[in-house]
Amino acid sequence: MLVQAATGNTSIKLDGVLWIKASGKWLSDAAQDDILIPVNLAETRTRIAQNIDPAGQTVAVRGKSLGTSVETAMHAVLPHRVVLHVHSVNTIAWAVREDGPHELALRLKGINWKWIPYVPSGLKLAAAVQAALASAPKAEVLVLANHGLVVGGPDCKSAEALLREVESRVAISPRRSPEPDWALLSRFAHSGVWRVPPSIAIHAMGTDAATRRMVSGGILYPCQAIFLTTQARTFDRTLTSVDLAGVDEPFVLVDGEGTLVRQRPNPTQSATLSGLALVLQRIPEAAPLRYLTDQQVRELLCADVYHYREVVEDNGAGHLTLRQNSTLSADLLT
Ligand SMILES: [Zn+2]
Repeated sequence: MLVQAATGNTSIKLDGVLWIKASGKWLSDAAQDDILIPVNLAETRTRIAQNIDPAGQTVAVRGKSLGTSVETAMHAVLPHRVVLHVHSVNTIAWAVREDGPHELALRLKGINWKWIPYVPSGLKLAAAVQAALASAPKAEVLVLANHGLVVGGPDCKSAEALLREVESRVAISPRRSPEPDWALLSRFAHSGVWRVPPSIAIHAMGTDAATRRMVSGGILYPCQAIFLTTQARTFDRTLTSVDLAGVDEPFVLVDGEGTLVRQRPNPTQSATLSGLALVLQRIPEAAPLRYLTDQQVRELLCADVYHYREVVEDNGAGHLTLRQNSTLSADLLT
């Protein structure tokens, strides 16, 4: 509910050193793995001031070269000693709505928070965060439109407590959805290519008309385009294996019946799809949605993602295997 795959990143500033999550590492591995790497905070801030993105700086940790998170610039410009950035399902469900600022103002009363309109991760996001803090220097919570949540604090305990507080205030009960047609879907599960997921939330993208409309309407947040597809495909219940033969997407929707997913999705795709399904379940049918524009989606899928690929493949061993036909990095936003 807080992060999916390698998304989200945490940091702490200690004695002039910014410890930031390494690109491609999973926060869920934090207790077992070296996921945080040290960079000089003053140097990092100087680079940002010179318009040089500090993401991807490599640091050797126990003989392995790890690169800093793509969101390093945002962590560096934030004044808080501890910064928790998560792709919270509940927050994203508000952050993709046109009325998100208004609705969240009602729920986050008494908390120093700011809404940051969508900008891509990296220097642009860092600049937007800096501008927001200039007008609200006491802000401790940032809601990143079409992206996620940032919480800052003087120490780990207070930052985590604030994160829990925000989470409880923005929590949304998931919408119920019809049961999928297990029998119809299972006809395709013997092909060796597709399978029927057990998650009702994932099937809701096919069974629930409102959910299907939302997921087919565009890109709500970057991970959806980067790790899954820019256009969810829907088939009607008369589909056959022949219809599915040329399909490259990690999942397909069957109108009114449910969802088929690839037999062997990589862990990043699985986690991203589950997260998307959970977000969609928490958006009311009539909510005004704010999708990314075509231009914003194009920017996400630009050539820069290739630079991250090698780092991700090296760092993500055990979790990440890139999608066979993917031209995208599995770590652009982490
Ligand atoms: Zn993020």
